[in-house]
Amino acid sequence: MASSTLNAGKIIIITAPSGSGKTTLVKRLLKEIPWLRFSVSACTRQPRPGEINGKDYHFFSEEAFKKMIAEDAFAEWEMVYTGKYYGTLKSELAATWNSNEVPLVDIDVQGALNIQKTYPDTSLTIFIQAPSIEVLRDRLQKRGTETPQSLNERIDKAVVELSFASQFDTIIINDDLETALQQLRQTVIQFVGRS
Ligand code: ADP
Ligand code: 5GP
Repeated sequence: MASSTLNAGKIIIITAPSGSGKTTLVKRLLKEIPWLRFSVSACTRQPRPGEINGKDYHFFSEEAFKKMIAEDAFAEWEMVYTGKYYGTLKSELAATWNSNEVPLVDIDVQGALNIQKTYPDTSLTIFIQAPSIEVLRDRLQKRGTETPQSLNERIDKAVVELSFASQFDTIIINDDLETALQQLRQTVIQFVGRS
């Protein structure tokens, strides 16, 4: 079928400093675009209460994960926290392309830059950014998920991550949510060439 050939291999990579609104925007986008499919990562951390294997992550032992690294199963992988591995499975991307859908990869800044190197011609990288560090701090505080210490860690990490923003194809400032969502939708639709 011509359309599946046309769209095979495209990949949307979205990243953002924590608290920028990435999860909020990605959830809305996935609801609106039927041919976009969330790419479920593999990881070695324990599932959190409520997380479902195969839906939130593919959970593996460290041994199994390392075996998959040796087998070249990953488009990218990283030790995100000490001893905790995360990666994007090539098989997950292939299954999405085979069903004529486009994978949306939601990963951290370093992972995004790595996967961009793997698929330089067929990837669209999007960096979502809060309007300022003050707004970011305020959103993280209001979300109510952070201790004062973890909030400061996330802000420090955000400052470092912001210095990489210019390496992405598109930067979307998430000030007004609906405006940011519209920009995100337009950018993705234009890149994939499908409405
Ligand atoms: P991330 O996934 O980037 O860490 P979230 O999607 O969890 O960020 O958003 C962080 C907090 O900011 C959440 O409480 C969310 O409801 C809120 N938020 C997201 N976008 C906006 C926006 N445009 N204006 C105000 N609050 C927002
Ligand atoms: P969490 O354990 O909170 O779900 O995720 C921790 C971090 O791992 C987040 O910054 C998230 O973006 C990142 N992450 C999730 N999946 C992947 C992946 O497949 N590859 C990489 N490199 N990072 C990932």
